[in-house]
Amino acid sequence: MLKLRIKRSGSLHAKTIILASEQKAQASAEARANQLEATFEAIVDGLLVYDANGHLLQTNAAARELLALDAQPGYTSYSPNKRAFQHIPRDEHSQPLPEEQWPVSRVLNGEVLKGATSVDLQMRTLDERELRINASGAPIRDSKGSIVGGVIIFRDVTERRRMEQRARDALGALLSMAEILVQVPGVKSSADEYTPTTTSNIARQLAELTRSVLGCQRIAISVVDPETEVPHPLAVVGLSPEHQQQWWGDQQQQKEVPLSDSRYPELVDRLRANEVLLIDMMEPQFRDVPNPYNIGVMLIAPMCVGEQLVGTLTLDYGGAAHDYTPGEIALAGAVAKLAGLVIERERLMQERAEARANELALREANRHMDEFLGIVSHELRTPLTAIKGNIQLAQLQLKKVVEKVGTVEGVTCKLESIRGLLERADRQISTQNRLVGDLLDVSRIQASKLEFRLEPCNLVDIVREAIRDQHQASPMRTISLELDCEEMVPVIADIDRIGQVVTNYLTNALKYSEFDRPVEVILQSDGHVALVLVRDEGPGLSEIEQQHIWERFYRAKGIEVQSGTGIGLGLGLHICKTIIEYHQGQVGVESAPGQGSTFWFTLPVTV
Ligand code: ADP
Repeated sequence: MLKLRIKRSGSLHAKTIILASEQKAQASAEARANQLEATFEAIVDGLLVYDANGHLLQTNAAARELLALDAQPGYTSYSPNKRAFQHIPRDEHSQPLPEEQWPVSRVLNGEVLKGATSVDLQMRTLDERELRINASGAPIRDSKGSIVGGVIIFRDVTERRRMEQRARDALGALLSMAEILVQVPGVKSSADEYTPTTTSNIARQLAELTRSVLGCQRIAISVVDPETEVPHPLAVVGLSPEHQQQWWGDQQQQKEVPLSDSRYPELVDRLRANEVLLIDMMEPQFRDVPNPYNIGVMLIAPMCVGEQLVGTLTLDYGGAAHDYTPGEIALAGAVAKLAGLVIERERLMQERAEARANELALREANRHMDEFLGIVSHELRTPLTAIKGNIQLAQLQLKKVVEKVGTVEGVTCKLESIRGLLERADRQISTQNRLVGDLLDVSRIQASKLEFRLEPCNLVDIVREAIRDQHQASPMRTISLELDCEEMVPVIADIDRIGQVVTNYLTNALKYSEFDRPVEVILQSDGHVALVLVRDEGPGLSEIEQQHIWERFYRAKGIEVQSGTGIGLGLGLHICKTIIEYHQGQVGVESAPGQGSTFWFTLPVTV
C-alpha cells in the first residue's frame, strides 16, 4: 500500500512517510510502555504511584500481594484517609502516625525518602496481617519541576525486624546473664556479708531470659552434682501451674542415676564434648520415653565449665513443628554455656558462704572452749589445789601435834582417826584433780590448744619417777622395773607429759587388776626407738575393745575397777595417744580376755 501511494503523487508521498513514522513511533512507545509495565510489575518491592492529591493511580503485583489489596476491589478509589483507616499506619514504637508523617504526604511535599530518611512503619494489611514496612519514595515532577505525583516503595521488613529484635533481646539477655555473673547475685550491704540467692532462683531467671530470647515453649535447667554426677532439676519455665507441679512431682520420683550409668551413654558423651543435641521424640529409641507434654523435637544444650559438664539446658516448642535453625542452635549453646558459668559461680559462692559460716561457727566454738578452759582451770582446779594444800598443811600440823602429845591414851586414838580422814580426803582430792586435769587436757586437744615444752631428757628417769610416785601412792602394790637398755635413753620430750602417760598406764594397770597382782614395767631401746611396756595381770581386753579404748570417753564394758579409788571418765588413754603421737611415737596394747594386758608406747631416741 505504501508503494502504491508513492507512485500516485509527490505530496502524497511525503504525507504517507510522516504517517508511517508516526505509526512506528507509536508502536515503539507502546512497546516501551509495555516493557515498563512489565518491569513495574516484576519489581519485587511494592510500588505505589499516587497523583498530586494522594490518590492511588497504580500498584504493582508485589504491593498488591503485600497489602492484600485484592481483598477489597474498590481500594484504588479510596481517599487517602480511607486508606489510612484501613492500614492504621504507626511508627516503630506502635504510635499512630499523623497524616503529615505518612510517606505519601511527605513525598508529595517534595521530600525524597531514601536511606536514612526512609521510614519504618507498622501497618495492617487488608487481610488483617500486621506488617513492618520500610517505605522509601520520591515526588514525580513535570518538565517545569512541579510535583504531579509521587511514587512509594514498600519493602516488607517484618521478618528482618523480628530477627533484629530477637538479636537485641538475645544481646540483652546475654548481658543480663553477664551481669548476674559479674555482680554475684546475693551479695548485699557489705562485702563480707553474703546472703545466698538460691541457685534455683538464678536458674529460673536464666530460663526466663533464654525463653524470651528463643521464643520456645518450655525450658528446663538441670545441674550435675560434681561429686555424685547425678543430675538434679533446678528450674522449669513455660508450663502451666498444674503441669509445673506435675513436672516437679515426676522429677522427684525419678531414680537418681549418675551420668555414667545413663541409658544413653552416647548422648552423654556428645554433651560432654560440648555438642548441642536435637532429640526427635518420634525416633524409635525415644518412643518409649514418657512424653507427657507431647514434645516433638527437643534441644539439649550442655552447660560446660571448662572440661566439666555441670548441667544441661533443655528446651522445646511442645508439639508444634519447629525447625531449629543453625543460628538458634548456636544461640542455645552459647546461652547454656553462660548459664553454666552463672550457676557454677553461684554454687561456688554458696560453698564459700557455707565455709565462712563454718569458720565463724568454729571461731565461736573456740571462744566458748576458751571460756570453758578458763572456768575449769580457775573455778575448779584452783580451789582443788588450795584444798589439797590445806589438807597437806593439816596433815603436817597433825604430825606435830602427835609428836607433842606423844602417846596420851584416848587422844592418840582420836588423832589417828583424824589422820585417816585427812588421808582419805587427800586421795579423793587427788582423784578429783586427775579427773579435772583429764577434762582440761581433752578439751585442749579438741581445741588444738594442748601445749608441749620439749627438751632433751632421759626416758629412764621419767619412768623411774612415775613408778616411785605410784609406789608412794600405793605402797602395798608390787611394781617392778626391767631395764633392757642403758641407764640413759635420751629423748626430746615434754617430761611432764611423758610422765603423765607412764602414770596413766600404771594407774590403769593397778586399778583394773586385783590388789595382790604385780605390775611390771619394761623399758627397751635399740638406740633408735625406745619402747615402754606396762604389763598387768588384770581382766584383759577383747580385740574390739582394744580398738576402741583409745577413743574419747570410751570405757570397756564389764571391766570393773579392782583396787584403789579409780573412777575414770574414759579419757586417759585418748590423752596418752595424743601425747605420744605428738612426740612422733606410737601406742598400742597386747591383750586377751582373762590374760592381762600389756600397754606400750614408743618414742624416737635422740642419736
Ligand atoms: P579410764 O579413766 O576410764 O580408765 P582410760 O582412757 O584410761 O579411761 O581407759 C579407757 C578404758 O580402757 C577403761 O575404762 C577400761 O575399760 C579400759 N582399760 C584401760 N586400761 C586397762 C587395763 N590395764 N586393763 C583392762 N582394761 C583397761
